[in-house]
Amino acid sequence: MGPRILIVEDEENVAYVIGTALRLAGFEIGETSSGRDALRLASEGDPQDLIVLDVQLPDLNGFEVCRRLRFAGVNTPVIFLTAADSVEDRVRGLTIGGDDYLIKPFSVEELVARVNVILHRTGRSAESPVLACGDLELDDTAHVVTQGGQDVPLSPTEYKLLRFLLRNAGRALSRDQILDHVWDYDFDGESTVVETYISMLRKKVDSAPPTLIRTIRGFGYRLDGN
Ligand code: CA
Repeated sequence: MGPRILIVEDEENVAYVIGTALRLAGFEIGETSSGRDALRLASEGDPQDLIVLDVQLPDLNGFEVCRRLRFAGVNTPVIFLTAADSVEDRVRGLTIGGDDYLIKPFSVEELVARVNVILHRTGRSAESPVLACGDLELDDTAHVVTQGGQDVPLSPTEYKLLRFLLRNAGRALSRDQILDHVWDYDFDGESTVVETYISMLRKKVDSAPPTLIRTIRGFGYRLDGN
């Protein structure tokens, strides 16, 4: 059984995409749309390894849920989901005992990555935050990509795309799958954006043979494993 994650989110579509992505990544998922229910589940139910906690909930807001949990001595790591891109909200979330936060809309790939970093830190996951393939290395704790020991500067989207490919090395990924995981969950642009970014990524990390990123004609891409 994988680590247990409690998702507290009242927006059904968001809860669905998060739940699907985390299950796919091998986690056991519990779900609720209520802050009060979350308090009960996190303090009395089966122990959770991490809580994904929406800030704006209908009954008790996420900050209050976290504050009460910490007050009760429950130290389960918390990742806040916040709609407000305000410094105040971020600071508030972290000072009341949250471990990280994501601003909506976010990419599920980013959420899975943050979850892995925290669980690795707390010793609840074996997955290393360092992903490697050939001479290419991505350290998700330091947020650094190196190739042959040299830093490779990537844009945030290129970084997320590379991380998704590395985590799924050896697996064929369709363009839609890449789009759904790497781009924000409410992105409704063209899927050709995937090709554009793969091409930019290739120029930065895959310009010399042996090449790592394979095109699967009419389907998508695959990063060849070590
Ligand atoms: Ca909400």
